[in-house]
Amino acid sequence: MTAAPPLLEVEGLTKTYGQGRAGKVFALADVDFSLNKGETLGVVGESGSGKTTLGRTLLRLTEPSAGRVRVDGEDIAALSLSALKPLRRRLQIIFQDPFGALNPRHTVGKVIGEPLAVHGVGSKAERAAKVRDLLDAVGLEPDAVDRYPHEFSGGQRQRIAIARAIALEPDLVVADEPVSALDVSIQSQILNLIADLRRERGIAFLFISHDLSVVRHVSDRVAVMYFGRIVEQAETDALFASPAHPYTVALLSAVPHVAGDAIPAIERVAVTGELPDPSNPPPGCPFAARCPKAMDVCRQDRPPLVRRNVSERETRDVACHLFEGAG
Ligand code: ADP
Ligand code: MG
Repeated sequence: MTAAPPLLEVEGLTKTYGQGRAGKVFALADVDFSLNKGETLGVVGESGSGKTTLGRTLLRLTEPSAGRVRVDGEDIAALSLSALKPLRRRLQIIFQDPFGALNPRHTVGKVIGEPLAVHGVGSKAERAAKVRDLLDAVGLEPDAVDRYPHEFSGGQRQRIAIARAIALEPDLVVADEPVSALDVSIQSQILNLIADLRRERGIAFLFISHDLSVVRHVSDRVAVMYFGRIVEQAETDALFASPAHPYTVALLSAVPHVAGDAIPAIERVAVTGELPDPSNPPPGCPFAARCPKAMDVCRQDRPPLVRRNVSERETRDVACHLFEGAG
């Protein structure tokens, strides 16, 4: 362990929308986590749980309503947009739909080289050489440089988007559902590419997906989101071996059990009902209405995300009254 601050420290990150008749909508409420250099944190949760809002407010593509985002100890949530610009190089994002993010009128060479040109990196010839290296790094042929995004398949377009995202040698890439639009066979190719980039270039990833099996494949740690909050966070293997929060148990129950898989055949729990109304959050645990283990206290007091004893041997960050606080 080093004494240096983590690459990223997020504290109390909150995003609300609207004030009108419908009231304030909490898209993201009081999210805390940190990420070390080169680490991959998976973020999983059902649609509407706040994953995209987390990724975007973190990078200030959406302005947070409250909270701190420190990069190497510096609070970027407080920076003016011009002071933020040099930091933007270090923080990149890729999306589910790479086509929407790639200018159809630009050649692939221009698309990938654009961030280098915008930030005035190297001479024209140096940038062209760098684009060739990037194409190679993401597994595309050199002749891609003169072609257009629409000439490529979905998986190849995601490779183009990844090449563009890593052009400036970022420290962190937020990947928001990067394989959700792809066929399963193509998904694993892109996940392997992301794993290689992480290993070879030391890039940290915030890897967002609604699909637990995808998140598991690439993450060192996993944060489970529910209703704009992180409800459980653990090392990937620990989370899959012994999910603690009833919502995590329910999510895992929905993942098909594969023979020889390390996931124990846990008791399957079907989650019925819907997310609460975000403009009228319940006073207690937001999962209480759907939780098979809910107690009276769960409907009254919202359990904070704190370190709790989840077994005789293990403590974990989990927001659930079923577990005692640790120390
Ligand atoms: P996810 O990515 O997990 O599907 P989102 O972050 O997109 O979730 O959305 C979280 C919540 O915030 C949802 O209730 C969504 O309706 C709400 N939300 C997201 N963006 C906006 C917006 N621009 N205006 C109002 N509500 C929004
Ligand atoms: Mg989303």
